Amino acid sequence: MRRVRSYFIAGNWKMHTLRAEAVDLAQRVAEHARSVPAVRVMVAPPFPWLLPVAEVLAGSPVALGAQDVHWERKGAYTGAVSPEMLRDAGCEYVIIGHSERRQYFGETDEMVFRKLQTALSVGLHPVLCVGETLDQRQSGWTLKVIRRQLWGALEGLAPPSAFTIAYEPVWAIGTGVPAHPEQAQEVHAFIRAETARLWGEGVDLRILYGGSVTPDNVEGFLRAPDVDGALVGGASLKAETFNAILDVAQSLVGEGST
Ligand code: PEP
Repeated sequence: MRRVRSYFIAGNWKMHTLRAEAVDLAQRVAEHARSVPAVRVMVAPPFPWLLPVAEVLAGSPVALGAQDVHWERKGAYTGAVSPEMLRDAGCEYVIIGHSERRQYFGETDEMVFRKLQTALSVGLHPVLCVGETLDQRQSGWTLKVIRRQLWGALEGLAPPSAFTIAYEPVWAIGTGVPAHPEQAQEVHAFIRAETARLWGEGVDLRILYGGSVTPDNVEGFLRAPDVDGALVGGASLKAETFNAILDVAQSLVGEGST
C-alpha cells in the first residue's frame, strides 16, 4: 500500500553552469518552489556558485546543497572544501559518494564513510549515493554491491534522526536509459531493510531514485512505495524541466493524502 508522504526532489548541477546561468536557474526554481509547498527541494550548484546561489535562495523554500565535501574539518588539503565551509556558505545538504566521484576520483567506501562522519558532525544532511554498474547488474550482483556500499558507508556511524540515500544505478546516469520503476522499487526496499538492520527502525529515512529522471518518467518512480523522491542531474539544468518534475511530485502528494 502506498505510504502518504511528501517528496524530496534534488538537483545535481554537476560541473555545469557559469555564474549568470546558475543565478538565473536558482531564481526560477526558487520562484516556482513556492507553488509546490509539499515538496522538499534542494539544488547543488558547483562550489564557486554556492554563495551567489545562497543569496538567491535566501527566504525561499529551496535548500542549498554541495556536490562533495572533504572528510577532514581543516588542514593542508589543496583544492578541498570542508564541511564547515559548506555550512558557512549556507549549505544544508551535501551529496556524498556520487558514482562520478567513485569512478573519476577514486572515492572508496572508506572515504565515503569518513565524509559522512564529518558532514554529520557539523550538522550537514548528507545525500549518500549508491548504485551498481551495468556489468554488476548483468552479473546478478546488484543487491550484493548495494549492501557492500551501504555497510561500508554507514557501519560505525551513530544512527542519525533523519538520513537520505539516493539509489543511482550507474548505467542509468546521464544515459537517457532510466531504470524501470520496479527495478528501483526492489532496490529501494532492500536499502530500507538493510538500513533498518544497521540502524534500527528509528531513522527517518528518505530514499531517492536517480538516473535519467525527466518530467515524463518521474511519476512512475514516485508512485513506487519505497521511492521518496528523486536526485535529478541533466533535467535539473533547465528550470522548465526541473520545475515540471516538482509539479508532478506536488500533484502526487495531494493525491496520496486523500
Ligand atoms: C546524477 O548524476 O545524479 C543523475 C541522476 O544524473 P541524470 O539525471 O542526468 O541521469
